[in-house]
Amino acid sequence: MVVVMKERASDEQVEHVIAHLVELGMDVHRSSGASRIVLGVVGSGKVDPRLIELLDGVHEVLRISEPYKLASRTFKAEDTVIVSGDVRIGGDEVIVMAGPCSAETETQVNSSAAAVKRAGAKVLRGGAFKPRSSPYSFQGLGEQGLQMLRSAANAQDLKLITEVMDISQIEVIDKYADFFQVGARNMQNFTLLRELGRTRKPVMLKRGISATIEEWLLSAEYILSGGNTQVMLCERGIRTFESATRNTLDISAIPVVKQLSHLPMFVDPSHGTGRRDKVGAMARAAVAAGADGLIIEVHCDPDRALSDGAQSMFPGQFDRLMAELRIIAPAIGRSICLEPVARRGWAR
Ligand code: PEP
Ligand code: MN
Repeated sequence: MVVVMKERASDEQVEHVIAHLVELGMDVHRSSGASRIVLGVVGSGKVDPRLIELLDGVHEVLRISEPYKLASRTFKAEDTVIVSGDVRIGGDEVIVMAGPCSAETETQVNSSAAAVKRAGAKVLRGGAFKPRSSPYSFQGLGEQGLQMLRSAANAQDLKLITEVMDISQIEVIDKYADFFQVGARNMQNFTLLRELGRTRKPVMLKRGISATIEEWLLSAEYILSGGNTQVMLCERGIRTFESATRNTLDISAIPVVKQLSHLPMFVDPSHGTGRRDKVGAMARAAVAAGADGLIIEVHCDPDRALSDGAQSMFPGQFDRLMAELRIIAPAIGRSICLEPVARRGWAR
């Protein structure tokens, strides 16, 4: 249920409505729209909407028909913008996050970070705790990997995103990273999602390999209902009968999610295709379809990568892709970081 307050509702009226709903056993989440305060009311208690509508300062009470509430556009009509330093996610600029699948060595992390920065990425990606299908595959360097990633990100003035697989890793990752990434395999790890809801750091929630959009938004709801409003979604391909690509990247999920939810929407064309020769095409399609950002695997020497080498781009390929995206983005009213272009003198 959503309670829309009158334009000129006083603070006391808002507080009174909140207190009344809390007394009825509900959780209330406040969001400020363009001109009105909107209260998202969730919980298992029973509330008669007509009685709430009669309270002073209330404009109207709407039922949210979707099972997710705080993630829905009915609760919040305006796009959510997540700000971390000078990075604004969900605004006009398409934000590109890039880097290796895993942190392997200092040299590998540093040169990959320098390459993605040069091409215009704003956020370094890289895993230190890796969810591998086989227990015999490289599992990541743990805290040592986080240290490498943080110092490379600092050296290049990039933000850092890295995957959290388990609640026991939240504390250490929180020390190093700017954003938590929840991987496809953990999209329905509800204990982890609840715990991330208690943090105040932005979370990227990747779509599970067999999750419907509704299940995905319900998982986002777990984080939002804990009080962490900074959630971004990432389409990374789903499992279908098709075997020509590693996964089937659901490009249509972009306009569907953008209509249903106010949360920023990312696309991962690397895991979405599994092959670096297909990544560029899907990245261009994602930006054209309205994605708020991309997360792309780039490795300084992908043929020797310890994980996901086949889908990791060479720095030169990524550089060309960024140049192409700078042409596509303005066609749909968006931009992509122009800084490095100017630095290299292309813009003269
Ligand atoms: C990754 O980003 O390296 C990763 C493991 O992604 P996903 O959870 O989408 O498989
Ligand atoms: Mn990977």
